Amino acid sequence: MVRGSSWRDHLDRAWFSRPGVRTREAVAAAAGLLTPSWCVGCGAEETDLCEECAYDVRLLTRDPYRAEAAAPALPVVGQTEDQLRVLPVIAAGTYGTLLSRVMLGFKDHERIPLDRVLAPALGRAVEAALSQLCTEAPLILVPATSLKARMRRSHDPVPHLVRRMEGRSALRGAQLAEGMLAQPPRAAAVGMLPGGGRQKGQKGRSLADRRRRLTGAFRVTDRGREELPGREVLLVDDVLTTGATIHALYELLTEAGAEVRGAAVMAAAEVPRGGDASQGSGLE
Ligand SMILES: [Zn+2]
Repeated sequence: MVRGSSWRDHLDRAWFSRPGVRTREAVAAAAGLLTPSWCVGCGAEETDLCEECAYDVRLLTRDPYRAEAAAPALPVVGQTEDQLRVLPVIAAGTYGTLLSRVMLGFKDHERIPLDRVLAPALGRAVEAALSQLCTEAPLILVPATSLKARMRRSHDPVPHLVRRMEGRSALRGAQLAEGMLAQPPRAAAVGMLPGGGRQKGQKGRSLADRRRRLTGAFRVTDRGREELPGREVLLVDDVLTTGATIHALYELLTEAGAEVRGAAVMAAAEVPRGGDASQGSGLE
């Protein structure tokens, strides 16, 4: 092809012209392709998650397990013989593994395609929670939008993952209920956000204190007041640490008339023994 006026040359020139480059950059950025691409697990190039690491994530989340024992701030919901029963939580995997890196890549670095492994992983936890904890198709409630995501007007990680599960038979007719919980702007503004205690400054506070602050960080909307009474609810969140967020939500939703059956989370943090000042507050 030597003719200077051929469409190919035009295309070439357009492709490498400055507006062309800008357009491609914009398109690539929108598609998440501009981020240098390497496996969040092992650093292999040209992929956000290599086959081996994707396989490992599946292994790490293959058997959802009951995680409430490691979360000292979960609400007590009953008593069996001489033991207190706390709200059950089912986790797909453990935080602090490859799973956390994939979650961070998805949440904080907006590597949306990672939802291909995360949605099935969370789906397994939700499926287990539905079959073990719920008797009818419950409402699935997701605690809150992260402030960061809201400020960037970008995707909201957990609802995004639940939406990807919708339509799967594993969901047993459960539906993602949105618009039933809100955060008063003031609470969001001062960063009193849920998310399992990963924010700085929360560590030294007692669990009871944290929970009081967290309760103030949410409110049930008018729609929630209408639809929640008498409904079964399953909470879904990304990480379980102390359980203070879930406790706060449990109280709010129960007060609104919902029957909170439990929670499903992507990952449960393993509580460091004796290393966390928020433990041993006497709340247990
Ligand atoms: Zn890898």
